[in-house]
Amino acid sequence: MIKKIDNLGRVVIPKGYRVMLGIKPGDPLDVEVDSGRLTIQPHTDGCTFCGARGALSAFMNKNVCRECLARLRATPEI
Ligand SMILES: [Zn+2]
Repeated sequence: MIKKIDNLGRVVIPKGYRVMLGIKPGDPLDVEVDSGRLTIQPHTDGCTFCGARGALSAFMNKNVCRECLARLRATPEI
């Protein structure tokens, strides 16, 4: 699908895609550039420590990725 960007930098996300992803007006979106591609996806909170997304565990209402969780477990008590 080819879309044109307007003078203010806006692009309309087709309704079918918005419905498919559950995106509603006012929802926060994550916009990123990765290897020359622009990605737009529904916002998700990443790991509290490193910002990684994907498989996250909840610890005291904070998201923590597996790598940071392993680092926390390996950290000796002060
Ligand atoms: Zn992390």
